[in-house]
Amino acid sequence: MDFLVLTLFPGMFSGFFSLGVLGQAVADGRINALALDIRDHALGRHKTADDRPFGGGSGMVMKPEPLSAAVREARERLPVAPVVLLSPQGRRFSQEMARELAAAPGLILVCGRYEGVDERFVEKDVDLAVSVGDYILSGGEPAAMIVMDAVARLVPGVLGNDESALTESFETGRLEHGHYTRPRDFEGDEAPPVLMSGHHLMVEKWRRETGLLRTLVRRPDMLETGLTKEEIAQLVAWSERIAGLIASQTVRGAHSSSGPEPER
Ligand code: SAM
Repeated sequence: MDFLVLTLFPGMFSGFFSLGVLGQAVADGRINALALDIRDHALGRHKTADDRPFGGGSGMVMKPEPLSAAVREARERLPVAPVVLLSPQGRRFSQEMARELAAAPGLILVCGRYEGVDERFVEKDVDLAVSVGDYILSGGEPAAMIVMDAVARLVPGVLGNDESALTESFETGRLEHGHYTRPRDFEGDEAPPVLMSGHHLMVEKWRRETGLLRTLVRRPDMLETGLTKEEIAQLVAWSERIAGLIASQTVRGAHSSSGPEPER
């Protein structure tokens, strides 16, 4: 997989491309990653890559010529890779999109700065605009890193154990269970004993159930489609237990004796 990033700040990527999972993948030759300086394609003595917006207003706009020339250079290096613009107005990035992008032979990622890039460049050269969320960053560089990191993890062989990518939150459509490591007792707080039981099936059951419970509490929207039979049985068992608990309660608190009955 090849990543080519077009940026005004190529120095931001030196640590990113050489450390951690991505750094290892680059060292192993599974990923080729390079940041090109858009300013190298800017004309004039000052190599100006931005200018004032037509129509007035605050901020600067990235000029189309250096961007287009940088994309031409990138396309010579990666002729069939899509050109992805990082933009808060783009399609929302997700694990699903990471999977789509991981199937591409490579990615050319364009990082905007200032008020953004000239619209004519977008129309002419960009295949896909991607947003990493509903907030505004100062530049596309952190967004490009997010995209590359998530995509690289899906490239075969990049994770030591490819199975771990398959069980992670969002890949399964559920949040992943919590993780524990040594010590068994951390400041009086015990790790769940089942995880030390050596009983593989019980561990798997615990992981599935706690993952489901987390999803229910933290991201119930993820359960709106595609419940398995096993999940339905689990949810029914929990709801019956909760209903039983509520039914067996007398209402506590100052106004409980005179207050209205809680809705059932
Ligand atoms: N004026 C633009 C707007 O309101 O849509 C925002 C420009 S932002 C300050 C500068 C650059 O940061 C953008 O061109 C884009 O490359 C990047 N950027 C900012 N927020 C982003 C996000 N949520 N996702 C992806 N890229 C983002």
